[in-house]
Amino acid sequence: MARVAIVTGGTRGIGEAISLALKDRGHTVVANYGGNEEKAKAFTEATGIPAYKWDVGDHEATLAGCARVAEEVGPVDIVVNNAGITRDGVLHKMSFDDWNEVMRINLGGCFNMAKACFPGMRERGWGRVVNIGSINGQAGQYGQVNYAAAKSGIHGFTKALAQEGAKYGVTVNAIAPGYIDTDMVAAVPAPVLEKIVAKIPVGRLGHAYEIARGVAFLCSENAAFVTGSTMSINGGQHMY
Ligand code: NDP
Repeated sequence: MARVAIVTGGTRGIGEAISLALKDRGHTVVANYGGNEEKAKAFTEATGIPAYKWDVGDHEATLAGCARVAEEVGPVDIVVNNAGITRDGVLHKMSFDDWNEVMRINLGGCFNMAKACFPGMRERGWGRVVNIGSINGQAGQYGQVNYAAAKSGIHGFTKALAQEGAKYGVTVNAIAPGYIDTDMVAAVPAPVLEKIVAKIPVGRLGHAYEIARGVAFLCSENAAFVTGSTMSINGGQHMY
């Protein structure tokens, strides 16, 4: 059945692949974005998927943005919390702003989107929330106390919200990607990236569509019994 889906950060990188995968499966997709107008415009022109701008870390803006989507497109049954940023640095060099901004967007964004859309899903008796965590939220990473804490928080958030949705046909799951070949990973210095790839048993970075296919499964009718889980898609880099 076709549903209305919002993919945050849905106009580029992993989010773009998720938007396309959900559209391919017949859903009506809206892609949220944070500020890259050029990319959002090109994405909409190429795919026909509308792009709506708001800052997912801003509570009021997120409530207003989701209300606009509900009014203009329809009640939202699928939310993919994909928007995320990095502000890396070792703790003694990391500013409080770097800490706060990553928590505000990466973890606060999940809360804000859930506040906007989860009550309606519960009322209607069907919903899917997929939160994009990270291997670095599972295993930690040098120079990323902010990002690892926010992503680890996403995994806890997922398990708690899953319990609130279970009786109402609303599943809440997370995907923990390993290293995927997007702009975010392009920002990692080449020597560091080489060392990372050497630790991936399949011997390469992942592709955005490999995450998107996992998301599409979790959003499907077939995944009705899957809730509170974390799907690791990481080429075998971290197994547990
Ligand atoms: P990109 O940096 O390529 O894209 C990030 C997306 O998030 C963009 O669409 C951006 O919008 C959006 N965004 C950033 N801040 C905000 C905001 N405040 N409000 C709304 N949207 C915002 O990231 P990736 O595609 O690589 O990553 C996607 C997700 O996957 C992230 O959560 C990331 O942490 C996670 N992840 C990525 C991995 C990787 O290897 N790439 C590994 C593990 C997890 P705009 O285009 O407007 O800037």
